[in-house]
Amino acid sequence: MDLSKLLRKPPAEDYQQVDTFWFPEEWEDYEYSDENDDTSLLIGQHIILEAGQVSLNYYCTECEDLRTFNSDKGQGLRGIIVNKQVISIDCILQCNCGSVVHTWYLVEAEEDIRYQSPKVRILHFREKLTERVKLQSEKYGEFSEWLEKANRAHRDGLGSGAIIYLRKVYESITYSIANANNIPLYRGNGSRRSFSDILKVVDEQHSIIPVSFSANRYKLFSQLSEIIHGDGSEEDALEYFGALYTLVTSVLDNVTQKEELKSAAQKFNWSTNNVSTN
Ligand SMILES: [Zn+2]
Repeated sequence: MDLSKLLRKPPAEDYQQVDTFWFPEEWEDYEYSDENDDTSLLIGQHIILEAGQVSLNYYCTECEDLRTFNSDKGQGLRGIIVNKQVISIDCILQCNCGSVVHTWYLVEAEEDIRYQSPKVRILHFREKLTERVKLQSEKYGEFSEWLEKANRAHRDGLGSGAIIYLRKVYESITYSIANANNIPLYRGNGSRRSFSDILKVVDEQHSIIPVSFSANRYKLFSQLSEIIHGDGSEEDALEYFGALYTLVTSVLDNVTQKEELKSAAQKFNWSTNNVSTN
């Protein structure tokens, strides 16, 4: 496997064997020996990696679609040696239209990056997104920004932060529909109804939760709540993010497919900042 194929994946704990990507003989004065610890000579050296082309998918706002952004094939990949196990790799990835995203990796070898077919893993990954390059399409209107933030937080390893944005979307769409359909947010005695009460009424009247999840509809929210309110660990938040994200976007898909709810979703101006929920 080319190193570039590994660079298409998220950071992981496990090391994976990749093809030899650095051939130090290109470096005229370089002599590698196991006996002499020449690490100090290596630190900070710029190297050219034979690692193929890095490709990642992003939403390009110029093309208004999901596109594959590629590193330049001819230029190859460039790295800087951090120590004998770690290299830093900068990649500029481009859409066909010219939109650019800057990515940065720290790649760690299990033993020594100079070994043949080393076992490596991505220790750290960052990307600089711009107005032209996003993780999330804009098809969810006002909710797209929160979903984008959820994705970004998750990619930065911020589990609880990512889940909070998902919860905001889930609560906001529910309150928007309640609001647009005069479903009361308060009880007769003036006390606020719980979110799960409101969700129950909204779902009974408008079936916002997709059928495939409807048996577990309140479990979805309590699962989100547990993770947000600290009952779940940061690890749980990261682990369940993908599943929770799918559930929340399924609710949005379901709502936008229902004609009578479209205007509530489009006129969304009801944020969880305006209401305190439990
Ligand atoms: Zn583009």
